[in-house]
Amino acid sequence: MNKESHQEKVDKINGVSPSFCLAKWTQVTLDLLHGTNHSCHHPKRHIIDEAAIEKDPWALHNTAFKKEVREQMLNGIRPKECGYCWNIEDTPGEHHSDRIVKSLDPWSYPFLDDVLACGSKGNYAPQYLEVMFDNACNFACSYCLADISSSIKKEMQDFGRYPIQRYHHRMEDPEWKRSFKAKDNPFVTAFWKWLPEIWEKLLVFRITGGEPLLSKHTYKVLDYCLEHPQKNLELAVNSNLGVDRERIERFLGLIEEVKAKDAIKSFGLYVSVDSVGSQAEYIRQGLNYDFFIHNLQIFLESKACKKVTLMVTFSVLSLPKIHELVKEVEKLKKTYPHLVLDMSYLREPEYLRANIAGEEYSTSIIKALEVMDKSEVFSDFEKNKCRRIYHWLKEPIEEQEKASLRADFFSFVNEYDRRYGKNFLKTFPELKNFYIECKKARFLSGQAP
Ligand code: SF4
Repeated sequence: MNKESHQEKVDKINGVSPSFCLAKWTQVTLDLLHGTNHSCHHPKRHIIDEAAIEKDPWALHNTAFKKEVREQMLNGIRPKECGYCWNIEDTPGEHHSDRIVKSLDPWSYPFLDDVLACGSKGNYAPQYLEVMFDNACNFACSYCLADISSSIKKEMQDFGRYPIQRYHHRMEDPEWKRSFKAKDNPFVTAFWKWLPEIWEKLLVFRITGGEPLLSKHTYKVLDYCLEHPQKNLELAVNSNLGVDRERIERFLGLIEEVKAKDAIKSFGLYVSVDSVGSQAEYIRQGLNYDFFIHNLQIFLESKACKKVTLMVTFSVLSLPKIHELVKEVEKLKKTYPHLVLDMSYLREPEYLRANIAGEEYSTSIIKALEVMDKSEVFSDFEKNKCRRIYHWLKEPIEEQEKASLRADFFSFVNEYDRRYGKNFLKTFPELKNFYIECKKARFLSGQAP
């Protein structure tokens, strides 16, 4: 049988339509705490109809809204919610958006015929399921939200909204407020009804949060795996690796048990860090960088953990030292080749986007690309993810919009400093001139100081 080339696969996806993406069917992230979902993780989450899942738990993934979006994709219309990919596809240069990357993933491409048979009206059993059971989290990262982190929820209750124009950021989304109590959550009930029906088709089951190591549901999933072995399943967990040592050791012990009993095919760990040292700690409030690297090495050493992905959410605060992080990863990859670097640009909140700074601040990402190109340890996937951020950074922003985002940036970091006893200028001396520009923009915006 002829093996299809990469280009033939790309042509087949684009042949369905230039806006077609398999991830709209094959992948889903469910937020069971608020009853929302998105496919893939880039678009904004939308509400799941409570009445619909009571009748049929398949509506957890196959919502009426998603079916409309699938219809648009099949008809060559670009769904508005997938702007993350259209931005990349509209920038000059040779690079694929996640629409192609995700459509060609092993959990997507082999299911092209099933997806086309399902069409826009049917219910599809996802291959890649990500679930957020709750929002208990010990971190309060600069770009995160009260709905996702209990620490940010508390911060917003204690201090209120930030004095910025885009004041809704970090606040709880009123649209997602539901009236049930945690123990009667209908989405969790529907989920446990639905899981046995899709279990055999699943290839990846990923738990996110909050911090999953703090959630009792994570341990319930491990029990489920032991009771219902699934030989094709990659179980994956996102973690900030910032919980106490005992919890980390206990969790790793359970993973080793699940793996030793052959209850799953493999285990993957996803961790996040966006710079090095004190700059990384500034971005992710709660992070202790050295403790993080230490814990990362514990997982990298474990035979039960065959894949570890280090995710970078590239914001304006990643600009000064991204090359140092890439060097750190290079060093680790030499000993642990199963460590994967996965970089994405930050979209929300807009005032932390890296492209508000200007091209003169791109030196570090150019150095990062040089490190990757010279090194033998980075794959094309890793280099391409970094390269496309570099191209995206060069995209101009309309001047008035840029001034407004810079004004918000200035107000945000000052307030964030106040709330957490941080010092932006001391931590990011490389961004001093940018900070002054932002201060001017804030002054000219006429907002109260
Ligand atoms: S088109 Fe892009 S944003 Fe939309 S589902 Fe596919 S990968 Fe995600």
